[in-house]
Amino acid sequence: MFIDIAKIKIVSGKGGDGKVGFHREKYVAAGGPDGGDGGRGGSVIFKVDDNLSTLLDFRYKKKYVAAPGEPGGGKRCKGKDGADLIIRVPRGTIIRDQKTGQVMKDMSDSEPFVAAKGGNGGWGNTHFATPTRQAPRFAKPGLPGVERDIILELKLLADVGLVGFPNVGKSTLLSMVSAARPKIANYHFTTLVPNLGVVSVGEEQNFVMADIPGIIEGASEGKGLGHQFLRHIERTALIMHVVDMTGGFEDRDPVEDYRIINRELEQYGAELSERPQIVVANKCDAPGTADKIADLKRAALDDGHMFFAVSAVTGAGLNTLMLAVGEQVAKL
Ligand code: GDP
Ligand code: MG
Repeated sequence: MFIDIAKIKIVSGKGGDGKVGFHREKYVAAGGPDGGDGGRGGSVIFKVDDNLSTLLDFRYKKKYVAAPGEPGGGKRCKGKDGADLIIRVPRGTIIRDQKTGQVMKDMSDSEPFVAAKGGNGGWGNTHFATPTRQAPRFAKPGLPGVERDIILELKLLADVGLVGFPNVGKSTLLSMVSAARPKIANYHFTTLVPNLGVVSVGEEQNFVMADIPGIIEGASEGKGLGHQFLRHIERTALIMHVVDMTGGFEDRDPVEDYRIINRELEQYGAELSERPQIVVANKCDAPGTADKIADLKRAALDDGHMFFAVSAVTGAGLNTLMLAVGEQVAKL
């Protein structure tokens, strides 16, 4: 199941009713109207929280209701405003209207967004006194809250998407180039969504790399999951295609692996196969891989892709690779 899309209902608070009341005091015969106004209902407000990286919470809670305003009181007392309901979302979340599909707000900056305004409180009867109607026996009810069905979508902001068969070393590679450096933020997701790592190259440049687990696991098992994962790649500028030079337990042919994945990308559409691709031959530390490396290199270059041979475990070739990736990202 996907957790980067969530459908929720938000409801702002109803305004408090205005009060019908009259001034009462000992020995004062007919006190004037003194009914206070109702308080404003709470609004539903979205805020970015950089400690969040998924929409996971929204899977369990679907309805978000702000507090109503309190009714007006006697002695012209205004009812208390309902508390606003703050909903925290990861940076980059897109808020859409469920019915129209229209984007209401892109939560990429830090500005809070009022998605449903609380209802205004009703006027108390004080407001309705006139010279000819000194004792109005009515007040205004508070306005109802606003109910909206919305969709939250987490826009992934990765520059580079890692693809490849399971166990080719995608996670190892990401952990080597990101967690190994001090300045790096790591966003940990559950196993079903991408892991993002920020890679620093040199002094100035950072880019975000996404490890997309399960991209092919599902597809190769005929579960149809693979294509769902490919959606994440749509949001990456550059594809890093990792190939296991040992062929794994099944002793697969690396060039064949490479072609299977590319076929997947092609079938998915969205011009994924035309996206710039860097082919990475991994596990080159393993013995007996030299010929296979040469074969894969030829296949990659024939397709017009860049090619690098590395070992994610020993770190060999990773610096060169990351510099090249950084250069490509800067260009795009
Ligand atoms: P992923 O499924 O693509 O994320 O693959 P992992 O990063 O989980 O790695 C799968 C296995 O391959 C692990 O046991 C790693 O230790 C191993 N592995 C990853 N990179 C290398 C490498 O460069 N050389 C060798 N010999 N093993 C590697
Ligand atoms: Mg992995």
